[in-house]
Amino acid sequence: MSDANTPATTHGRHSAAGPPTPDATSADDTVRALTGGSSAADWLARYSGSLLGVFGTPQRVLVRGSGCDVWDADGAQYLDLLGGIAVNALGHAHPFVTSVITSQLATLGHISNFFTSPPQVALAEKLLALSAAPEGSRVFFTNSGAEALEAAVKLARRNSTPERQRILALDGAFHGRTMGALALTSKEAYRRPFEPLPGGVEHLPFDDIDALTAAMDAGVAALVIEPIQGEAGVRPLSAEYLRAARDLTRQHGALLILDEVQSGIGRTGRWFAHQAVDGVVPDAMTLAKGLGGGFPIGALVTFGEEVSTLIGAGQHGSTFGGNPVATAAGLATLHALETTGALRNASDVGAFLRRGLAVTEGVVAVRGDGLLIGFDLDGDHAPAAVQAALDAGFIINATGPATIRLAPPLILTQEQAATFLDALPGILDTVRTPTDSTSQEAPA
Ligand SMILES: *Cc1c(COP(=O)(O)O)cnc(C)c1O
Repeated sequence: MSDANTPATTHGRHSAAGPPTPDATSADDTVRALTGGSSAADWLARYSGSLLGVFGTPQRVLVRGSGCDVWDADGAQYLDLLGGIAVNALGHAHPFVTSVITSQLATLGHISNFFTSPPQVALAEKLLALSAAPEGSRVFFTNSGAEALEAAVKLARRNSTPERQRILALDGAFHGRTMGALALTSKEAYRRPFEPLPGGVEHLPFDDIDALTAAMDAGVAALVIEPIQGEAGVRPLSAEYLRAARDLTRQHGALLILDEVQSGIGRTGRWFAHQAVDGVVPDAMTLAKGLGGGFPIGALVTFGEEVSTLIGAGQHGSTFGGNPVATAAGLATLHALETTGALRNASDVGAFLRRGLAVTEGVVAVRGDGLLIGFDLDGDHAPAAVQAALDAGFIINATGPATIRLAPPLILTQEQAATFLDALPGILDTVRTPTDSTSQEAPA
């Protein structure tokens, strides 16, 4: 793959000395003037004195990105193998996306949904085309993944009657932090402090067709599933399960809602992960993360006329959702992904990474598709591995005590991926304890 987004600096220098930062721009100087220059330590002190503590202490203070690389306030360079959690599909500061966003902002930035704009209409049409949605399908734009799920929950409610109130989701599911999305999310630690949550949601065992068959009846309004559970450590549902989910929901009059917030927008080498399974067309699909290439935007896609008319005029809305800048960002992102062969690259480099991980000592399981990858370590040292990886110049993520997730930009090159595979044994060496190779594998 070659495009204008090749990182400005060759990756491989991980020392904190001699910051290899690209030249400062005037915008960068302005931001520095607005924020006031500080060292990384000062920024972290100011952070803990001003930000709500929900995210804990940030791992680094980042100041710049280019392609798949980012730089911190102390000048250290990192290969970003998390991509802002599956968001930076085209890496950082992609020239085309940046220029489309800035020119749209300089032309018309926000207008409210009393009005529409060309990028809004064009992005909706583009999403319908990429999802091969049938006649009558529609799009609702949001600003985040959770909001796309909120819209989906409201859609499910509109498919409800007094006898049809149940919404099914899966163990391990992550659908977001707002109250409706949280009701669908399975993790107790996320849910418990905020109960009561909107009711009617039941969680079923993961990838268990018998359990689904037993749970389905005319009282189910919707089944909400991720084709690949990202936050649970990159766990793909089987093709058989997705087919059964499609058949059973159709049979019982329930909506099949696919949450592709993390797995969508080319990440698996297909526009949407469910497109790997023939015959599985959802009733609705939620999108966000990669859609804006780093600019906040989400969407609910409703499939077919019947589903698309469940929610009518005045029944849902958003002030920011679908504004000209966000939708221009989405259009630019999809265009750049399409014209640079990024999906093919995601397949190829993802396969290369999985092959390398599978033969790395200390890695006991590898999962995923394209550039959404999870792997299990031979002990509960994933958080320590994340720290060691940072020190070695790589951004990775622990989704559990023994599980690492990679969700890098889809423009990651094989050479960049190889630098990580080369460094990983050393990273794991520093965190593995002698007993790890014989210790029990932690549950996903
Ligand atoms: C991240 C995520 C969400 C929530 O998106 P936010 O933009 O953080 O609100 C929902 N569903 C899935 C599958 C996700 O990965």
